[in-house]
Amino acid sequence: MKQRLDHFMAHANAAYYATHDPFADFTTAPEITQVFGELLGLWAAVTWRVLGAPTPIAFVEMGPGRGTLMADALRAVARAAPEFRAAATVHLIETSPRLREAQRERIGEATWYDAFDLVPEGPMILLGNEFLDALPIRQFVRRGAGWTERFVDREGFVEATSDFVAAIDTAEGDVIERCEAAETIAAAVAARLARHKGAALFLDYGPEISSPGDSLQAIADGQPADPLGAPGDADLTAHVDFSRFGAAAVGADVHGPVPQGLLLARLGLFQRTNQLARHQPVRRAATLMEGARRLAEPDRMGRLFKAIALVSPGAGIPPGFESTETGPQSS
Ligand code: SAH
Repeated sequence: MKQRLDHFMAHANAAYYATHDPFADFTTAPEITQVFGELLGLWAAVTWRVLGAPTPIAFVEMGPGRGTLMADALRAVARAAPEFRAAATVHLIETSPRLREAQRERIGEATWYDAFDLVPEGPMILLGNEFLDALPIRQFVRRGAGWTERFVDREGFVEATSDFVAAIDTAEGDVIERCEAAETIAAAVAARLARHKGAALFLDYGPEISSPGDSLQAIADGQPADPLGAPGDADLTAHVDFSRFGAAAVGADVHGPVPQGLLLARLGLFQRTNQLARHQPVRRAATLMEGARRLAEPDRMGRLFKAIALVSPGAGIPPGFESTETGPQSS
C-alpha cells in the first residue's frame, strides 16, 4: 500500500513530536541564546506600535517547542515595553501534548490551539520559528517531458505518473517540492491580517527563490537518518520555499525574505549580547558571544535561515525589513 509523501511525513512528525524531546536531537535559535527570543519580543512590541497599538492584542506563536522563545520574549517586553505586555494575551498553536506541557511550565498563562484557524479573530502579532520546515511536503520528479510524484511504500520511494506542472525551469531528474500546508497557512494568516491589524514573522531555512532539489531531511538521535526509516523516530524537515509562501499570502503586504543574520543584526543582536555578556563570568560571556555568531554568521545559520514578514495592508515596514528590495527579485 503506497502512501503520499506528505501523508507519511505528517504522521511521522506527529508521532515524533508526541513521543520525543526534539531538542535532544537538534537545537534551534531560541535554545542557542536567550537574545533571539528577546529580540523577537521587542520586534513584536515595536510592530504593535507601528500598527497603532491595537488593544487587546493576541500574541500568537506557531510551534513553540519548549516555550523558550515566548518566555524570553515576554520577559523582555515586560521590562522594555510594559504597555505591549499589558495589552497582550498569549496564544500557542501546538499539537504535541508533551510539548504543550513543557510550554505551560515555561510560559504560564496561555491558550493552546491545534491549528491557526481556531485562534480567535482580532488584531494579532504572530511568530513562528522553525515551524514551517516541519510541515509535510510532496515531491515531484521530472521524467522526460512529464512528471511523477514520489510515494512511500514498504520498499521505499516509488514513483507514479502525475499531471504536475512546474512553474520554474527544470531538467531531467529534478525534484520539485510543494508544501501545501505552508501555503494554506500563508493564505489564512494573510486573510486574517487583511481583516484585523497585525503582523506575522516566520523564520526558517530555505532558498529565497524557488529552485529544484530534494531537501527532505531526517534527524534521529542527533544524527542524519533515513527519512523513510522507522516513522516517528526521526524529525523530518524540508526547506521552506519563501517565494511560494510569500505569493500565497494574498491580502497582506509581504516583506522579505531577508537573511536571518541581517535581521538579527539590525534588531541589535550584538549590542544586546555584549550588554548581557558584560555582567557575566568569562565562560558564560563567551557562550553568549558564540551563540550570537552562530545565528548570524553567513556560513552558519545567518544566510540559509531567512525571515519573512506578513503585515496588514498599508501598515508600513516592520523593524529589520527596511530597504530589502535590492535582491534578485527587485522590480
Ligand atoms: N519554535 C520552536 C520549535 C520548533 S520544532 C523552536 O524554535 O525551538 C517545531 C514545533 O512545531 C514543535 O513544537 C512541534 O510540535 C510543532 N508542530 C509541528 N507540526 C505542527 C502542526 N502541524 N501543528 C502544530 N504544531 C506543529
